[in-house]
Amino acid sequence: MQGLRRFRRWCGARRRGQFALTVGMVTMLTGTCGAVLVAPNWAMPKIRADQLASAQQVAADDPRLAAVRGIMEPFGPLTAVRVATGDGQESLVVGHSGQRVEMDVLAGELAPATASVNELWGTGWAQSALVVVASNASEFAALLRSGSLLSREVAAASVADPFTHGTQPTGQRVVFSPDAGRRLSPDGLRTVLRHELTHIATRGDTVDGAPQWMLEGFAEYAAHRAQNHHFADIAPTLSTRLRTGAAPTDLPADSAFTGPDAAAAYEAAWSACAFVAETYDEPRLVELYRGLAASKQVAATEDALLREVLGSSRADFTTAWRTWLETKTP
Ligand SMILES: [Zn+2]
Repeated sequence: MQGLRRFRRWCGARRRGQFALTVGMVTMLTGTCGAVLVAPNWAMPKIRADQLASAQQVAADDPRLAAVRGIMEPFGPLTAVRVATGDGQESLVVGHSGQRVEMDVLAGELAPATASVNELWGTGWAQSALVVVASNASEFAALLRSGSLLSREVAAASVADPFTHGTQPTGQRVVFSPDAGRRLSPDGLRTVLRHELTHIATRGDTVDGAPQWMLEGFAEYAAHRAQNHHFADIAPTLSTRLRTGAAPTDLPADSAFTGPDAAAAYEAAWSACAFVAETYDEPRLVELYRGLAASKQVAATEDALLREVLGSSRADFTTAWRTWLETKTP
């Protein structure tokens, strides 16, 4: 399983009220990883008509259904929505009738999400996705090929067949948890979808063992870009630490993304990528991603790539990022 994401409540989103931020990771996680992010029940804001899919078709004969039909049909009849997502490609949202509301939200978000990923990453990927909404914990685990039930804090995750770096992976799908529609607002669903879609788009260029701060930071950056989300709303934990003089001293290590302080790790990773995009530009952020994602995490490699792409040593990059963070302190 790859690209696993968890619920997290957003606090302080003054204009949008309660909201949720999810974080994720590319490595396999078990159900024991839910210590970080706890989202209490809250009312899902009313969904606007323009957030629903406009052109829906039942695509019962779509061959992509074959990949999930055997897993899902024991849990009830399938509903599928086909969405045009660019360059003649079609994405598919699959679920059961009980998940129809969130399915429609996701279907309505798929085309703009794909366009946003294309704008950042380019069009050298499938530009389509199979998005599945699980109806219960067993189905969620089965769709993610997990041998055990996942933490209820997992909002969504993505999987792919084994693949060779540099080739387009097959069997990719994004799977939303049975609680996603209840616990995430439409804004939250959009953010999760864009995060996971970024993992789908970039997976062929990403090796196991690449630095998590870039993999997850980039997906989070892609999820929030051009949405007018405020720094403190995207990174509440980091904001609090900046206010109290507890700014991160270094880029988060891979181990930080699975421990009790994972939320801070994701926020720091997002901020490092936002720093690159804002201080340099998005093409150089993408270039940095391509370089770092193609290699195992080795400090010397990171240093060489940062020098090559940004003209800055790793130490100088970290210092500049921390200085930038201070400018974001409320
Ligand atoms: Zn992720």
